[in-house]
Amino acid sequence: MYRFSRAMYRELAPEISAQPVCADQTSNHEHVLAACEAAVLRLATDRHYFAKPCKTLFADIRVFFPVSAQGRVYRVVDTYLGLCREWLVSQPMTGFDPLGNKVECRATTRKGRPCQRVPLPLNGYCPSHQHLAEAAGEEIAVAA
Ligand SMILES: [Zn+2]
Repeated sequence: MYRFSRAMYRELAPEISAQPVCADQTSNHEHVLAACEAAVLRLATDRHYFAKPCKTLFADIRVFFPVSAQGRVYRVVDTYLGLCREWLVSQPMTGFDPLGNKVECRATTRKGRPCQRVPLPLNGYCPSHQHLAEAAGEEIAVAA
């Protein structure tokens, strides 16, 4: 999964400003790499509540690039986070996220307890709770 953040960073690295932006000892390159990794991690573990990954990451890192590179930086971020999301959605339903944490359906049962069924990768709801994704205007899994 981190291959997406590393590939994104490698594309962005040549454009990073030489002038340090932060007063601490952390270089611009370290900031950009850390932000790319954090975005990919959040996409992998919390993507149903990560509303605008591309805008969020771009806002975090744009300060480390010259004005002339901003458009390209946005396109690179958009491309790699899109590929990462596609890959995550294509993963088989194992009941665990890429870090090995157990994942559960986002819905609550009639008794008020969290639904414990394994969610579909596309929207985080189990097959019985797909109507909730539909109601929220999210993508729904279509039965083949
Ligand atoms: Zn459910």
